[in-house]
Amino acid sequence: VIDIKHLSKSFGNNEVLKDVNFHVNKGEVVCLIGSSGSGKSTLLRCVNLLETPNGGEIIYKGKDILQEMKNIEAYRTHLGMVFQQFNLFNNLNVLENCILGQIKVLKRSKEEAIKTATTYLQTVGMEAYVNARPNQLSGGQKQRVAIARALSMNPDVMLFDEPTSALDPEMVGEVLKVMRQLADEGNTMLIVTHEMQFAREVSDRIVFMDKGVIVEQGTPEQVLTAPQHERTKVFLQRTT
Ligand code: ATP
Ligand code: MG
Repeated sequence: VIDIKHLSKSFGNNEVLKDVNFHVNKGEVVCLIGSSGSGKSTLLRCVNLLETPNGGEIIYKGKDILQEMKNIEAYRTHLGMVFQQFNLFNNLNVLENCILGQIKVLKRSKEEAIKTATTYLQTVGMEAYVNARPNQLSGGQKQRVAIARALSMNPDVMLFDEPTSALDPEMVGEVLKVMRQLADEGNTMLIVTHEMQFAREVSDRIVFMDKGVIVEQGTPEQVLTAPQHERTKVFLQRTT
């Protein structure tokens, strides 16, 4: 679905991404792991063009999106983004949060938007909360609504940036459970996570990043059980 070639990104003199190459195939679940500051969020933000890369290509449907900057909005509608901080609209209720983008961006009718939102709120187990405001929900519930909102746009790829790291420990499980279910259903997902056990269980491929480069990638077995590179081994020793 997305093919990243020779991607680079600097902030001033700080070269955060260096010649990054990787792809996400349709139906694939890819987990991106690595130390704090290695550039994982920056990579995800480049993929959805919240940051503008300094060089390289992002090929989507055979076209380099960076050469077609006028179509950024159209491109973004094909990506579902779930952040660490839920980014829900606090002045809107759960259902309104989930239909707004569908109506404004996808130009769906209100009826259709409600139907779609209801389906995905059921998927994440939040259908009983349609009238609640985000500030009445727990962190885990908010994140499940954020996932339902992203799914309601029927994206080609779901991007997750540490969706559980702002949650109280007892709420991590309910969000990972929803993500596991989405993975099992064949959704295409690119997930930045520190949850190694989760990554091992759901990933088709794991990508390990360190200091702005992809050090290695492969199946969970290859990367987590039999890492080839010293930097991967050191990272895994620190996290497990
Ligand atoms: P974490 O696991 O802590 O979330 P990360 O792998 O997501 O880390 P990034 O957030 O991508 O790392 O940051 C990589 C580097 O880029 C860091 O050195 C950070 O200071 C720098 N950086 C990120 N965003 C910006 C920005 N908007 N302006 C300047 N520097 C930035
Ligand atoms: Mg990050």
